[in-house]
Amino acid sequence: MHRFFTNEIQPNTAVVRGDDVKHIAKVLRLRAGDVVQLCDGNGRECNAVIRSISPDAVTFDTEPWREATSEPLAKITLFQCLPKAGKMETIIQKCVELGACSFVPVQSERCVVVLKPPYEGRIERWQRVSEEAAKQSRRGVIPKVQLPVALDKLDFTEFDTVLAAYENEQTVSLKTALRERCGKAIAIVVGPEGGFSEAEVKTLVQKGARSVSLGTRILRTETAGMAMTAQILYEVEP
Ligand code: SAH
Repeated sequence: MHRFFTNEIQPNTAVVRGDDVKHIAKVLRLRAGDVVQLCDGNGRECNAVIRSISPDAVTFDTEPWREATSEPLAKITLFQCLPKAGKMETIIQKCVELGACSFVPVQSERCVVVLKPPYEGRIERWQRVSEEAAKQSRRGVIPKVQLPVALDKLDFTEFDTVLAAYENEQTVSLKTALRERCGKAIAIVVGPEGGFSEAEVKTLVQKGARSVSLGTRILRTETAGMAMTAQILYEVEP
């Protein structure tokens, strides 16, 4: 069934506007009476029957809203140190497909890219990538891309598990860390192409992160977050 996000929701009715109207009317050629799935982008979805189509809006009669079935049990936030141009898009797209719930771009010592304010344009572009990926992968939420934060200003207080992937970690594997402790609000931290300095890992550990190894092979920064997301959800999903 076709699926659309909307935040224009009233009792028993909802409206979709914007590019989706053309998609519904001209590309999919849906008509009054056809049924689609609507999602509020906050974890709820429903079946909805098209009541009317105008050039700028499609109005639906909605059936009862229910919790979206596609959301993972664990909410993963990826703290991604800024990679080189273009890679953040790939990271966001793939991690949304895999089930990450939120993204925080992080400025660290060895980032080649230094983001300067105003950040809005860049964040909006990344947010659109997240939305497209959420639609495509039928997520129940549109994962949020947050404003960039400097590594030493990171705050993990809202998380119950914080895992920093460190390429020089020799002792603790992701698997071990997850089996010892795995909450429902999980932060993962990934370094940039140049990796983390020892001082940065110390800072992250002081802030409550566990330094973990992803194995004996060194992954590219854009691979690390994807691998962690997939492995964590493999571990926590039924
Ligand atoms: N330039 C570094 C590698 C950086 S890889 C070097 O040559 O050693 C980029 C980031 O991906 C790392 O900072 C880390 O967060 C993550 N990463 C990649 N491979 C990893 C591994 N085997 N274990 C833990 N983290 C890894």
